[in-house]
Amino acid sequence: MMQDCVFCRIVNRQLPSTVVYEDDKVMAFNDINPVAPIHVIIIPKEHIASVNDLTDNNASVMGDIHLAAKKIAEKLGVADKGYRLINNCGPDAGQTVFHLHYHLIAGVKLGAKII
Ligand code: AMP
Ligand code: ZN
Repeated sequence: MMQDCVFCRIVNRQLPSTVVYEDDKVMAFNDINPVAPIHVIIIPKEHIASVNDLTDNNASVMGDIHLAAKKIAEKLGVADKGYRLINNCGPDAGQTVFHLHYHLIAGVKLGAKII
């Protein structure tokens, strides 16, 4: 837990969020500033700042995140129509919250470029 990390505070219910999925390793909630009808943020509960901070010891969360994404897409009814999973790593990619996360974006026909 990083006290000054927005997503750690969401995990610990110190900040409100609309939770759409949770298990012991992963949490997912609606993005506060959605860019599409469905815009969910999927995070590991463990604080990992970015893809750059993955190690042999914590990299299993990537599988957990992707399994969660599959379940969320099914739950929200977009598994067949499709969805996009996006990770921004570092300043040039526009990462603003330094707690590893994936954007699950769906509910609209997406162009070649979004976010
Ligand atoms: P990124 O640019 O990849 O770091 O994306 C961070 C995302 O987190 C943005 O889409 C924000 O809208 C979203 N975000 C920031 N704070 C919150 C919050 N308190 N609840 C939900 N989403 C948030
Ligand atoms: Zn964090």
